[in-house]
Amino acid sequence: MTETRRERIAIIGGGITGLACAHRVFELTKHLPNPPEIILFEAASVAGGVISSLNLNNAIMELGPDSFITEKPWALDLCQRLGLTNQIIPTQEAKRRTFIASGNKLHPLPDGFVMLAPTKLLPFATSPIISLRGKLRMALDILIPKRKIAEGQNADESLADFVTRRLGKEALDRIAQPMISGIYTADPTKLSVTAAMPRLPKMEEEHGSIIKALLKRNQNSSGTAGARYSLFVSLDQGLSLLIKTIIKNLPEGFLRLNTKVAEIVRTPCKTIEGQNPKKSVWQIKLQDGSTCDATALIVSTPAHQSAKLLESVDPNLSTKLNAIPYASSAVVNLLYEKKATAGIIDGFGFVVPACEKRAILACTISSNKFANRAPEGYVALRIFLGGAMQPESYALSDDQMLKAVKTDLRDLLGITAEPVSHKISRYPLSMPQYHLGHLALVKEIGEASKDLPNFALAGNAFHGVGIPDCIHSGEIAAEQILSQLNIDPKS
Ligand SMILES: Cc1cc2nc3c(=O)[nH]c(=O)nc-3n(C[C@H](O)[C@H](O)[C@H](O)COP(=O)(O)OP(=O)(O)OC[C@H]3O[C@@H](n4cnc5c(N)ncnc54)[C@H](O)[C@@H]3O)c2cc1C
Repeated sequence: MTETRRERIAIIGGGITGLACAHRVFELTKHLPNPPEIILFEAASVAGGVISSLNLNNAIMELGPDSFITEKPWALDLCQRLGLTNQIIPTQEAKRRTFIASGNKLHPLPDGFVMLAPTKLLPFATSPIISLRGKLRMALDILIPKRKIAEGQNADESLADFVTRRLGKEALDRIAQPMISGIYTADPTKLSVTAAMPRLPKMEEEHGSIIKALLKRNQNSSGTAGARYSLFVSLDQGLSLLIKTIIKNLPEGFLRLNTKVAEIVRTPCKTIEGQNPKKSVWQIKLQDGSTCDATALIVSTPAHQSAKLLESVDPNLSTKLNAIPYASSAVVNLLYEKKATAGIIDGFGFVVPACEKRAILACTISSNKFANRAPEGYVALRIFLGGAMQPESYALSDDQMLKAVKTDLRDLLGITAEPVSHKISRYPLSMPQYHLGHLALVKEIGEASKDLPNFALAGNAFHGVGIPDCIHSGEIAAEQILSQLNIDPKS
């Protein structure tokens, strides 16, 4: 009697991408008579990567991301499949307002502002956020013809060039740069608009104007039934609940924590030689000197890490992965007594334009954004620092960083009291920068990795940095690997 060999799928990197990938493999194969074994290697002592929630003094602090967008379905879908529907919490819509810093003042983004442009005349016309000249320049978007791309000309454009061309320099400096900085921590003169915000060039292409496109979108959405979820949602116990629930749903022993992979080696498959010469065995060399073999491999670490791991497997692929730059950022969570924050803005938070030369990039008033983030009588704040535009803020020591944060909060929110508690979290080289040419580079990476059998790359480096994008990337990698292994979930 011949014994059926069990395939082993190894995943490197236990952030949300790697976990979503493991979950998808298991979800699609658990009913099969001989499902593949899944092993996930994670260097840290806990899984989740940059996703981490902490309960401190009865406040739920999000040390990394605090929410995910619902317009992209993959995170919501996964939560629903995991039975977390009742744990999904909306943002507190009554407080949905974003402010922009100017000097020592915070001005609300005018009502009707969608993405980067106004859709309501009066609130925009009376807002002090932009000068009269700047407003007139923004309005010109309606008249400016769409960009003509000559044959052979690269269609990619930086976000700065795109916004300046359509809406003017003031809109870039005062609105687009700080809003984008809070998401991509990116330098808009380098950020590829096609890779990071493809909707903007699409709007220009289809409507000839950003303002016209947004007005049309508003018209189309009015009169339809209210959306089931707010634009951003979180989980009642914090986003770590998603991580814990994925792990709980996977077979015991799949996750190897504190297990840093040092190198990957590809060796010809000995066991089935002759049957499928294209197959190979992946040998995963761990930092403690031990090794583990697998028939398939998914690498879901940050691109610079993946580049290191794959150096001896494919130097060309490794060089291309290394070409994706990353920025470092920090998050400072603070809990204040409510009386210390009297008179602060009644909104989700504020962003700070780089031209203001402050230490902080953005501040979320977590207890305004979500209902249960601070205990009664307290206010929770989450400050974002560093990124590609302000590496000097990231470089500060913890004491210096806390001091700089307190100075900015004093100037902008009038808070002079000491916080009841605080937590500083650092994310070195964790945020990929989608620079000009990013999509072409990702295409080349995809082509190079196709040459490697039973192999897939996933993560935030390629087609989106948000949590839904990472989940999608992990799930696609899982499906690709099953197809490469000829494992049919429907069999
Ligand atoms: C501060 C911050 C705030 C953010 N806010 C939001 C937000 O509010 N909403 C949103 O949608 N997105 C947000 N993002 C983006 C989003 O959270 C990330 O893009 C996403 O979580 C990345 O997941 P990942 O699994 O691809 O990578 P990571 O989370 O970086 O995980 C990679 C994992 O690989 C492991 N690893 C690395 N090298 C090795 C090795 N050699 N061996 C074994 N393991 C290894 C690491 O330890 C890590 O656990 C934020 C990002 C940051 C940094």
